[in-house]
Amino acid sequence: MMRQRIRKTILIISFLLFPVTIWYFSPYLIIQAASEHIMNGSFIVFVSMFVLSMFLGRVWCGYLCPAGGLQECISAGNPAPAKQGWRDKIKYVIWIIWIIAIVVTFILGKNEVTVDPFYMTDHGISITSIYNYVMYYGVILLLVLPALIHGRRATCHYICWMAPFMVVGSSVGRLLHIPQLHIEADKEKCVACGRCSKSCPMGLDVKTLISEGKNDKCTECIQCGACVDTCPKKVLKYKMTRRKN
Ligand code: SF4
Ligand code: SF4
Repeated sequence: MMRQRIRKTILIISFLLFPVTIWYFSPYLIIQAASEHIMNGSFIVFVSMFVLSMFLGRVWCGYLCPAGGLQECISAGNPAPAKQGWRDKIKYVIWIIWIIAIVVTFILGKNEVTVDPFYMTDHGISITSIYNYVMYYGVILLLVLPALIHGRRATCHYICWMAPFMVVGSSVGRLLHIPQLHIEADKEKCVACGRCSKSCPMGLDVKTLISEGKNDKCTECIQCGACVDTCPKKVLKYKMTRRKN
């Protein structure tokens, strides 16, 4: 499928650029910058993710995320679907604690508020010293281990600090009735072959979600379109319309 080839190529390129971009996704640097009243690169990126998701859902995760790219590259190491349910909620607990830490640090911080997208980078590049590589590979390990132990994109399911921005952003877009990219299913055409579930990089049970009419409400769907491109009966389609609440 051409679309999936393009998607995977973009994800691999995004991962290869990770040593350059990693600080722009840093959950730590945003706190350090908040203490100095600086809106840094990761602040700008996280706000952009939130705004983008009001219109495009979790497309970032499906098409652009370096951490997602890394996990798809190593998925042969453990292709089983990651167990879901309560485990998916862990990332929201992490996210809430982290957001509180950012806000409190900002309140306690000093200085005029300034914007510095290249905060703590060298001419915009994140990893420029040998010491930074220690941290870089620590992050790589953090991203790789859950996926190798628990299965497909387990890091996205369990601990990703970025995913909640997009889940919340999508819900806000929905509440505001903004036309939003999503995947719709024509349930009647489904022959329950299960190919969509097998193809899903998030390991979702797409077939069951469709039969229960829940696929459109699934917050773990990253709108990658693998199910759309795999379905032999053309049950699934990308749509850019207002979603039902
Ligand atoms: S691949 Fe298509 S036909 Fe098969 S279970 Fe999924 S939606 Fe139904
Ligand atoms: S349900 Fe479809 S679009 Fe959503 S993550 Fe799975 S394969 Fe991608």
